Amino acid sequence: MKQYLRELPPVHEIQNNERYVRISSASHLANEPLKEIIQEAVDYVREQLLNGHIPSNQCSKNDFMLMILDFTEEKINTFVKARLTKVINGTGTVLHTNLGRARLSDNAIKHVSDVASSYSNLEYRIKEGKRGSRHDIIEDLLIKVTGAEAAMVVNNNAAAVFLILRALANEGEVIVSRGQLVEIGGSFRISSIMEESGAMLVEVGTTNKTHFYDYENAINDSTSMILKVHTSNFKTVGFTESVDTKELMALKSLYPNLTFYEDLGSGSLYDFKKLGIGDEPVVREVLESGVDLVSFSGDKLLGGPQAGIIAGKKELIQKLKKHQLARVLRVDKMTFAALEQTLKVYLSEQDRIHELPTVRDIIKSIDEIHGQAEFFKKYINKSSALYEVDIQENTSQVGGGTMPDVELATVVAAVSHRIFTANELAEKLRIGNPAIITRVKDDKVLIDFRTVTGKEMDDLMGGFLELV
Ligand SMILES: *Cc1c(COP(=O)(O)O)cnc(C)c1O
Repeated sequence: MKQYLRELPPVHEIQNNERYVRISSASHLANEPLKEIIQEAVDYVREQLLNGHIPSNQCSKNDFMLMILDFTEEKINTFVKARLTKVINGTGTVLHTNLGRARLSDNAIKHVSDVASSYSNLEYRIKEGKRGSRHDIIEDLLIKVTGAEAAMVVNNNAAAVFLILRALANEGEVIVSRGQLVEIGGSFRISSIMEESGAMLVEVGTTNKTHFYDYENAINDSTSMILKVHTSNFKTVGFTESVDTKELMALKSLYPNLTFYEDLGSGSLYDFKKLGIGDEPVVREVLESGVDLVSFSGDKLLGGPQAGIIAGKKELIQKLKKHQLARVLRVDKMTFAALEQTLKVYLSEQDRIHELPTVRDIIKSIDEIHGQAEFFKKYINKSSALYEVDIQENTSQVGGGTMPDVELATVVAAVSHRIFTANELAEKLRIGNPAIITRVKDDKVLIDFRTVTGKEMDDLMGGFLELV
């Protein structure tokens, strides 16, 4: 094969090739990265050749040029095309962690764009013309929506848990029920975070049952905190018992120096229970029961940006704000901008709640979902003979490790293709533009319209009809 090596075109010849000139200039990439890509392409073809992967009848200079250009074009595309891209979520799972959890409201997006594209008062008190603190920007909003004395925002809820343990547990003992030692999304474990924080985990009770006296008996001079963790992503059923927050508060008067902290996970500000959806406590209710601190995510049920919100006693929040880690875990102006607009919806008239895509999707009416499914079926049937579409009853999940036992009644379009299997169809939909993510069940592709907006319908149907 070595004799063919001299047929490899030199770099300047590639650079002068008409097709190369076209694709490189359309890419607007700088000369340096382009040169590196050409070098990678030549190296690639040389390696293929030396490894005997290129048959000798394809070893002309022209053949090599074609291979190099194909490689170059593909590589250039990977640098030009967006990496993080929009996808259509046809799974019906509203808080799909792999698909970016909560979508933001239009107002939140607009505000992010406004604030990010100009200077802002992030750490500046306009009236006084003096330095301010980013902690002050939305604290009063958080106080209004949660009923807490004080509040602050960090990077995510995992960061909130870490900061609280580190700053307030003082390397003392933290009592947690064995039934609440959760792992969330494979990478967040209460026990590991606790270890990193320097606090000592004291497990009480058993996997299925923890009693009041379990907590009581575990308290000693080294105890600094009692932590309750919302078992977000699983349910224990059967012979179970846990101590509810109100009951636990009986320990407060006996041990006034302990901090009572509840990691709520999702932390809903909207009362889904009232609509018969799940039994997620509203943040305000938990604080009213007397806990000192709660923390929850910004991009779960709240429907905002990734953030960790900490709310509770002023004295404790002050300590947290002053801790070095608060600086490490602080959030950007874009997060504040999105959170501000998201929180304001909760202070507005009831029907504005529909502005938040997360809440809207969870409470979306079955009639609306059904209407979209029927529209899809009619349109696909009219436009192509390749599909068979069935409308079926099904259930959707809230997702994001939230309300694991809640099944939201929904309607799906179950689609089969005359040539492709369901898995082949699902793959083709995924690699389309925009990507369409579906569920496959019983050799059919299922689209759950709970998570598909009216605006996305054209792209969705186009995706099916343009398949090759
Ligand atoms: C989701 C969750 C977390 C982690 O929150 P992030 O915002 O994803 O960091 C922590 N604790 C509980 C109970 C959760 O449900």
